Amino acid sequence: MSLSDELYKEVILDHYEHPRNYYVLPNSNLHEKGVNPLCGDEFELFLNFEGDTIKEASFQGKGCSISQASGSMMTELIQGKTKSEAFALIEKFKGMILEHKSPEYSDDEADLEALNGVKKYPVRVKCAVLSWNTLDKALKG
Ligand code: ZN
Repeated sequence: MSLSDELYKEVILDHYEHPRNYYVLPNSNLHEKGVNPLCGDEFELFLNFEGDTIKEASFQGKGCSISQASGSMMTELIQGKTKSEAFALIEKFKGMILEHKSPEYSDDEADLEALNGVKKYPVRVKCAVLSWNTLDKALKG
């Protein structure tokens, strides 16, 4: 295992063990659930909007480290974003995992790079995209 693989693993474990925004958001404007039966992952997303902007994002869930870390990273990144900015980030992340693209991530988004290795493991791909698909579904209503 290379040094970067080790670092990526640490980033994923850190999000898994200390998930960001892990709480139920009372009176959320949008609430959506997603499951990945292949792995048994569950992800529940809560969003509060101010106009077109995501003011607050939180989640609850259970499952493997990949699914939960990906959701933790996602809820951090979408706060303060408009719907169209959130859709653009979904495209970017799923492009990396599903189409093996190499997106340019901003410094804020750098943690997402840690999930890049998942694309090599088809059974884990659904774990990584679960939270993003749930967001997509929520935003499209
Ligand atoms: Zn999983």
